[in-house]
This record gives sequence, C-alpha cells and structure tokens, in this order.
Amino acid sequence: MNDNDDSGYALETLAVRAGQHRTGEGEHSEPIFPTSSYVFGSAAEAAARFAGDEPGNIYSRFTNPTVRTFEERLAALEGGERCVATASGMAAILATCLGLLEQGQHIVSSRSIFGSTVVLFDKYLSRCGIQTSYVPIDDLDAWDAAIRPETGLLFVETPSNPLTEMADIEALAKLAHARDCLLVVDNCFCTPALQRPLALGADIVIHSATKYLDGQGRCVGGAVVGDAQLVGEDVYGFLRTAGPSMSPFNAWVFLKGLETLPLRMQAHCANALALAQWLEQQPQIERVYYPGLVSHPRHGLAERQMSGFGGIVAFDVAGGREAAWRLIDATRMLSITANLGDTKTTITHPATTTHGRLSPEARLQAGIGDGLVRVAVGLESIDDIQADIARGL
Ligand SMILES: *Cc1c(COP(=O)(O)O)cnc(C)c1O
Repeated sequence: MNDNDDSGYALETLAVRAGQHRTGEGEHSEPIFPTSSYVFGSAAEAAARFAGDEPGNIYSRFTNPTVRTFEERLAALEGGERCVATASGMAAILATCLGLLEQGQHIVSSRSIFGSTVVLFDKYLSRCGIQTSYVPIDDLDAWDAAIRPETGLLFVETPSNPLTEMADIEALAKLAHARDCLLVVDNCFCTPALQRPLALGADIVIHSATKYLDGQGRCVGGAVVGDAQLVGEDVYGFLRTAGPSMSPFNAWVFLKGLETLPLRMQAHCANALALAQWLEQQPQIERVYYPGLVSHPRHGLAERQMSGFGGIVAFDVAGGREAAWRLIDATRMLSITANLGDTKTTITHPATTTHGRLSPEARLQAGIGDGLVRVAVGLESIDDIQADIARGL
C-alpha cells in the first residue's frame, strides 16, 4: 500500500496498514516520535508554518507523526475524512461538544449513555450554557419532540451499556438532518469492525480507544472521526488550543491494537454469543440481554446495522442483589471490574457500581435491576468462562 492510498482496501487490510508513512530508515513497524517540538530549516520556514501557509509539524500538542498515523488509520477504518486523537474518550466528547457548540445551544441525548458523559453534560457543559435533554434511546418520537430551535447535536451510544438497547442510526441521522442538527455516535462498544455509523448517515463518531481499540487494557485514549470541516477544523481547533491530545506512546500502542481489531472483535462476538445462548438455558437466569439473541427486541435492527453483535452480555439473576453478588464472588478467573474491551473477561454488578449513584427510582426507570450482572466477554476459552459463571449458579 502506497502512502495515502487507502482506497479500495478491505477493513482487515486498513487495520494493519493504513496511515503508515515510512521514514528513510525503511522501518517495517511504525516508529514512535517522542518529541514535544520540531525544528525549522530557517526563520522564514518557521514563520510560514506558524502562519499556516505551509504544512508541517510545529508542536506535539498540535501534531505528532505517530499520533497522525493512528488518526489516519482510524479515519480509514471508520470511513471518515479526518480523525483527531485525544487523551481519553471523555476528552473526545468534551472536544466535540466545545468544538461544535456555543453558549445557548442544546443537546438531545439518549438516556442510556456512559455515566461520566452524563456528568460532563449536566455539571460542566451546563456551566457553559449548553443544556442537555435525555430521551429513551429507541423512541424516535421522543427524540423528535425533544429537539428545539437551539439544538445543535443528538448524542447516542448503541448498543447501550449495560442493557444493549439499540438505536436505529440511519433513522436518527435522517431526523437530525431534517431538523438541522448533527448526529454524534459513541461507537466505543462496536468499533468500526462491527458498525460504521458514518456510512449510516452519522456526522461524528467518538471513541474511547481505552476499550476495544487498545483491546488489552494498557492505555487511556480517545478519538473523534468525521469530515474535514467539523473534525479537521472545529474539533481540532479546540483540541490544539485546549490541549487534551494523545501521547505518541499511547498512539503507538493503539496502532498495534488496531492491527488485530477485526480478528479480536470476531472472537469477542463469538464468545459473547455462545455465552448469551448458554445463559438463556440456565433456569436461575431470568433474562439475557444481547443483540445477537433472537429474543432481543431489536435483533432485526442489530442484524441490519452491525456485522457482529459485540462483546457485552447482561443478565438478570433470580434472587436480586444477593444472588448477583454470590454469582460474582463465586468466580475465580473472571476479573471483578467495571472495565471492558479487554482480552480478559470482566464481570460487574451495575446497580452498585456504574449505576450506583442513581436513585433507586432512576435505576428502575433505566431498567437496571438489583439482580442484573454485566459481563464484558474476553478472549479466554468459552468453556472456562462458562464454568466460572456456573460456579455461582
Ligand atoms: C469508557 C467509555 C467512555 C470514556 O472513555 P475514557 O477513555 O475512559 O475517557 C465513553 N463512552 C463509552 C461508551 C465508554 O465505555
């Protein structure tokens, strides 16, 4: 693959090769450039770079070659013109909102989004005069009714965490554009290996690279993907000024993660589907939430919108909190942690961890019962994962 020629290649090929620009050393693996600044050939060149008249590196808060390789690779995978890498997934969401919205504007968001995103919207963006309304993820009429003249963007995560509720991205994009808004999709749970929101009409894709893009639980990072204006100018403009940029070391780790992303996601999906089907057979399990199950209320949408059903499985254990905790505590191999997107399978009790700060009524409304357990299925043998969960049943 020649430099800058990402056209026509399959996802698996882009994951391995997109964005690499070899230096004169002929290195095979992508190099890390741990440099904060860059040297100019002359005073005139420095002036031209600073004036923006000439392309090139100035300072690693703005650009870094290793980070750029990660950005180009992820942009190619998502099918976007531009990607900007950020210090974390939360920094990606912050940069998107502050890069694209002004005081007085408004966000309509799915109610079922990452907890820190809710705090960012309600506690911090509200201080900048940006208010957020929340709607049920799958109720298109509610989305429509919540849009105001000052609404700038719609924000959604699909499938949701932990109940794997689904939004129809194509329908939401149509609604957003009919009402002069942008659609932002947090694609952290699926990655471009399973779902490509831009091809379905979304304007912006957000990632926590911390999860499946790394895939091995090593680094914190994030990214925003979209077109040259929205992402390349507006989001990037905020980022280079405010500074939550990605370190070249982390970008290199994410590059190595991306190379195996399609393979890993297939394996996560296969394990998760097998686990979900097995859980459905267990008499102590009242309900299993997984888009790959025929019993999932939006299984048809999942089949249309995703090329695999993801690695997150949730289920209600009969007996409430006591039974859920007993099941979690009986595991010997699974990691008891709220993290996800790792080779290692993790198990968590949402009602007392990720959703513990909600009032009991709000939790009930969100469908997070006391017996609910979430498993982020890793890459161990499915037999060992099942045996570990079976211990506490
Ligand atoms: C983890 C996560 C985030 C935040 O990402 P960080 O890298 O932890 O800042 C945002 N959205 C979703 C869906 C996540 O799972």
